[in-house]
Formats: sequence, C-alpha cells, structure tokens
Amino acid sequence: MTELYFELIDADATVAFGKKLAASLEMPCIIYLEGDLGAGKTTFSRGLIQSFNYQGNVKSPTYTLVEPYELESVNIYHFDLYRLADPEELEFMGIRDYFSGNNLCLIEWPEKGVGWLEPADILVNMQYVDDHRAIRLNANSARGEKILSALT
Ligand code: ADP
Ligand code: MG
Repeated sequence: MTELYFELIDADATVAFGKKLAASLEMPCIIYLEGDLGAGKTTFSRGLIQSFNYQGNVKSPTYTLVEPYELESVNIYHFDLYRLADPEELEFMGIRDYFSGNNLCLIEWPEKGVGWLEPADILVNMQYVDDHRAIRLNANSARGEKILSALT
C-alpha cells in the first residue's frame, strides 16, 4: 500500500497540501486525521474544504463533534472526536448516515471512535518537526490507493 511523506514548512503549506489532495479525491471518501493537538489536522482540513469552492470559515468542530459543509459538488462532514466521552454518542448522532451517502468524511481523533466508524480510505498522520510539521499518508483501500497514486 502506498505511503507518502512530506514536510510542511508553515501553515500555508499545510493548507496548500490539503488543496492538492482535494484535487485527486474521489467520493465517497473517508479520511482519518491523526496526530497530537496542534499538529495541523484542522489546518489541513481547512485547505481541503476550501478547495471545494467554500469561501467561509472552517472552524474546529471540537465542541460540536461534526461540522457539515453541504456544498454544490460534495457534502463534507468534518468530525473532531477529541471530546467524545462515550463512543456510543456516535450511534445517537446517527453516525451511519454520514457514511452512507456520496460524502467526504474528515475525522480528527478517529481513535476515540473505535468500533463505530467505517474504515478509512486514507490515513493521515501529522507530526511536529521543530517549528514545522510533517504529514504521512497511507492508503487503506483500493480507492485510497488510487487517490494517493494520483498525488505522486
Ligand atoms: P490540530 O487540528 O491538529 O489540533 P491545528 O490545525 O488547529 O491543529 O493547528 C494548530 C496550529 O498549527 C495552528 O496555529 C496552525 O496555524 C499551525 N500550523 C499548521 N500547519 C503548520 C506548519 N506546517 N508549520 C507550522 N505551523 C503550522
Ligand atoms: Mg483540530
């Protein structure tokens, strides 16, 4: 399975890389975003979401658990499960419906929802490297493989 690694010099580079990945996505698509607090997961999501012709603000869904972007070309659901106390909450919020459509699901802190989430197409891991960040992407399905191959 394909693994890609890039260093991102600043927040603009993180946004730009989100945009680059967006250009080769195919729906439905599930992306897990792992990495410590402040590693750049939301910044990366911002680039991705904005590239689907969304000019508004992309805020962190830490308190709402999910922020929907129902756009012309795609429905995007941006999750942040950091504050999820009990994974059963995902059942109550109707998590299955988010996975059933032709949607793009971006999921920060997927490890908090183990057992309740569909498997990812792409696993993204962000890390601190000095003042910068690094991003590692792993394909986790045939679709993910195709998307990442298009990036290289
Ligand atoms: P997370 O969602 O992983 O908690 P955020 O996306 O909210 O992290 O980013 C936290 C901070 O890191 C923000 O201030 C953002 O501007 C900054 N940041 C993002 N990417 C980079 C980068 N490549 N280099 C330096 N700072 C970055
Ligand atoms: Mg975040």
